Amino acid sequence: MPEGSPVCAARAGLVVRVVAGFDRGGRAREMQEFSNLLIIQHADGTLGEYLHLQKNGVLVKVGDEVKAGDLVARSGNTGCSTGPHLHFHVRQPLDGYTWRSVPVRFWTTEAAEGNRGGRRTGEPEEAAVLAESGAGVGGFATHSVAGGNQGIALGLTRRLADRVQLRAPVERIAWGADGVRVNAAGSETTADAAVIAVPASVIDGIVFDPPLPGATASALAAVRYGQAAKLFLPLAEDAPPSATLSVPDRFWTFTQLAPDGGPLPVAGSFAGSPLAIERLGVAEGPDRWIAAVRDLRPDLAVRAEDAVLSTWADDPWTRGAYSAHSFASRLDEAALCRPVGPLHFAGEHTAGEWHALMEGALRSGIRAANELIGA
Ligand SMILES: Cc1cc2nc3c(=O)[nH]c(=O)nc-3n(C[C@H](O)[C@H](O)[C@H](O)COP(=O)(O)OP(=O)(O)OC[C@H]3O[C@@H](n4cnc5c(N)ncnc54)[C@H](O)[C@@H]3O)c2cc1C
Repeated sequence: MPEGSPVCAARAGLVVRVVAGFDRGGRAREMQEFSNLLIIQHADGTLGEYLHLQKNGVLVKVGDEVKAGDLVARSGNTGCSTGPHLHFHVRQPLDGYTWRSVPVRFWTTEAAEGNRGGRRTGEPEEAAVLAESGAGVGGFATHSVAGGNQGIALGLTRRLADRVQLRAPVERIAWGADGVRVNAAGSETTADAAVIAVPASVIDGIVFDPPLPGATASALAAVRYGQAAKLFLPLAEDAPPSATLSVPDRFWTFTQLAPDGGPLPVAGSFAGSPLAIERLGVAEGPDRWIAAVRDLRPDLAVRAEDAVLSTWADDPWTRGAYSAHSFASRLDEAALCRPVGPLHFAGEHTAGEWHALMEGALRSGIRAANELIGA
């Protein structure tokens, strides 16, 4: 765990002890007294303890109340420590002098994947600190759509011919017991019902008349979006399939086969966190990232002049990459997909455990269609 990694509270509680001034660490036992630490007392009297934190890396003070998932510290390497890491344990004081250690189960990627199959193998309340890693991906078959994922939507619209209006953003939806009236680009469409499948991050661009009820509006407003950026560099020479991770810069560079099985003369790179995107200077253009790819993959003959950089935070129709479900940012699936009169809701953010994936988007559409057929 690199020094400076965010440490989030595993459980809610009261901050009862903070040490943050040390900047020394090492293997020797006498280093023990130099560990920066944070202790949070939980409602049941147990103490959650976070050790070896960075100098000045405690972001809360004694007396603060924190919630599970709050950012409370930055990890470090102080005290008796063989390398940068977070030591976390839970203690139960017994009589003022003695205590017992409370077993803690950590919420790992494996546990999250177990949950996709309906098995609960982890206890989220005990280890939110490790669960802030974004959506996991399960052990299921994966597929690519030749020509891009929009091919699925365009294929579906073909059967609807000119009843589909593209490049006409919906501006207003009036709804009631008698159906819906949808205004888009100067035209009005009436219908018995509507499925709203725009990302939660941009739904505030649509005026609902009357406004959406509180539970739906709050659930939509609470959805947080992850960030991602992609850099595509054409290659002057073919390269076999490969994937390399830059650990310090937190991005992947990969080469793959074309749909016909031949080489695809492009190096793709993916950065999937705000921190990585910032480190790569994406806001200023592709140059720093191209240099990092060249350092990482000197074997690839990249044509930097034809680079294509894509970002999603600045796309006005998504304002983010995909919904993020974590303990600090929960998706209220029940409220997100509950119909409101003639309005039905779809989109990956409504797909519960399948959120953030194409699979979730497709499943949510089928669920909404079944609601309409059953209505
Ligand atoms: C970089 C990146 C990599 C990804 N990689 C994978 C992957 O490997 N595997 C995977 O399964 N998933 C991946 N995903 C996620 C996947 O792309 C999404 O989960 C999926 O596209 C979501 O579909 P959706 O229909 O819910 O939303 P979207 O595809 O975002 O569609 C919403 C549509 O609503 C439109 N819209 C917005 N406002 C309005 C309005 N007012 N009126 C009309 N239309 C409007 C938008 O233009 C958009 O076309 C990735 C996403 C990103 C960004």
